[in-house]
Amino acid sequence: MFNTIFSLSTLSIFILPFMFSFTTNFNFVWFWLTWSTFVFSFSPTRVEILGTTMVRVLFYALPSTLMFLFDMLLPAASTVFKARGAEGLPGGRKTRNLRLREFKVAGWSLFNIALGIILQGSIELIFHHTLGWKARIKVSSILPFPGTIAKHLIIGLSLRGVLSYVLHRFALHREKSWYLASLHESWYHCLRVPYPLTAHYDHPLPYLIHKFIPMYLPAALFRFHALVFFLYLAIISIEELFSHCGYRFFPIGWLEGIAARVDEHLDDGGNCNYGLWGFVDLLAGTYKGDGGGDDDNDDHYSDRCAHKSKGQRGGSSTGSKSKKWGSSTPRVSGGTLRNR
Ligand SMILES: [Zn+2]
Repeated sequence: MFNTIFSLSTLSIFILPFMFSFTTNFNFVWFWLTWSTFVFSFSPTRVEILGTTMVRVLFYALPSTLMFLFDMLLPAASTVFKARGAEGLPGGRKTRNLRLREFKVAGWSLFNIALGIILQGSIELIFHHTLGWKARIKVSSILPFPGTIAKHLIIGLSLRGVLSYVLHRFALHREKSWYLASLHESWYHCLRVPYPLTAHYDHPLPYLIHKFIPMYLPAALFRFHALVFFLYLAIISIEELFSHCGYRFFPIGWLEGIAARVDEHLDDGGNCNYGLWGFVDLLAGTYKGDGGGDDDNDDHYSDRCAHKSKGQRGGSSTGSKSKKWGSSTPRVSGGTLRNR
């Protein structure tokens, strides 16, 4: 009996690695066959746009819409998961009065996502099909090397972080660029709090400058492989999903830090945290209020939420916005969303 068990255990030690290796190879071949079929079934531009749409829907639009509907239809249950409690709901405590406005925000957010995908397709049509340039996103059945994937992800995410900071701060929050600044102020900065779908809420023009260009430009400049681009876009979509959901639970602490900084940017009237990951803000001296994921920062974030839920948010926020924009730009009145 003992010998039988021992021999079976010994056998499994030798067989399992082969089984694991076989499964890995099988998954790899299956993935390559699926990708190749996809590539050979459609034109490169269609592969790029279909893939981009699938990633955006799966990793951002669908989960964000479900979270938004959960907030709107079951506010009592949603409040339990919100970092600010009832204050973090799309309509705040007055959900019945503000429902139409919140659905407008959701509609504009989804419109902006579609606008970005249409613009991406148009760029490929103009530059690749009309002018004969190389496609900006490389669609090939040959899979990229792991080193290329890592290199392009690091370059893409770093460049996106810098571009996002520069464009947000100097194009959308500067009195010299008053037109763009007033649009960003009267749309995005009229949000009371971040909630699901608001990562893509803004006037379409500042949206394209602040969200689309920093995301697309690094990929277009370095001609990412389509698979690398989809992975890059999935990481960005997950970041946007959690940074604006308003919930207190995050899969990793790093996302909580981003959510805290996004919240602080809105709360402080656009005077800090122009970047997403905090590094450029740290270097430029515009960093404020990081959740960060460690215990101390968790306490800080909770304290700040408690402070706001006592009703002190509206006055201080409005004051800082008035100070920032002066009399020539629109004001936020009491932290509520405007009609348009
Ligand atoms: Zn802003």
